[in-house]
Amino acid sequence: RDAQESRGLGDVYKRQALNYQEAMQLAMQDGLTSLNNRRSFDEQLKRAMHHANRQRSKVGLIVCDLDKFKVINDTYGHLAGDKVLKIIAKSLQKNLRSSDFIARFGGEEFVALMPETSADEALIVAEKLRKKIEESPFNFKKEPVQITVSFGISEIVEWESIDEVFNRADKALYKAKESGRNQVQIG
Ligand code: GH3
Ligand code: MG
Ligand code: MG
Repeated sequence: RDAQESRGLGDVYKRQALNYQEAMQLAMQDGLTSLNNRRSFDEQLKRAMHHANRQRSKVGLIVCDLDKFKVINDTYGHLAGDKVLKIIAKSLQKNLRSSDFIARFGGEEFVALMPETSADEALIVAEKLRKKIEESPFNFKKEPVQITVSFGISEIVEWESIDEVFNRADKALYKAKESGRNQVQIG
């Protein structure tokens, strides 16, 4: 009976450990798209900066933001908007490498860290992604709707801060928006 009791207790612990793991997983994940969330991205970026400094390897950073997304929400509803976000997340996962770290950074903004990748190489990848999304047929209420995304690129420079590398990508994204959207800029 003792053995039975201790097995029962073991199961309880195992279950608790599993719940803990699940809770940790959920804390690092975005609920809508199941991508990594901003918190896990921030941690990963810190790790990537250390790695880049130690190994003198290149790490590319892509930030992207859906164009005029408010109009999609206002015209077709929030649920349609959510569906678009899920599809874009899938497209990022499909078209980036498994070694790339993809996250939903905020509302309609996504980021990707690309190990062993220069800004020029990241630009080529982002351009491919941009075209794929531009050519994706979205339909709402049986109407075809064009979805486009703007991209900003940067590359981690040795010993710079997280803010610096992120700001360069963000400024490039801003430039892409200013210059007419649906395009990629390097910062
Ligand atoms: P821009 O091209 O300058 O980026 O224009 P925009 O309309 O995309 O930018 P703005 O920041 O004005 O609006 C972002 C919109 O994204 C606001 C909100 O309607 C939508 N949004 C943000 N998060 C979510 C979400 O989780 N679900 C849905 N459906 N919409 C979201
Ligand atoms: Mg935005
Ligand atoms: Mg936007």
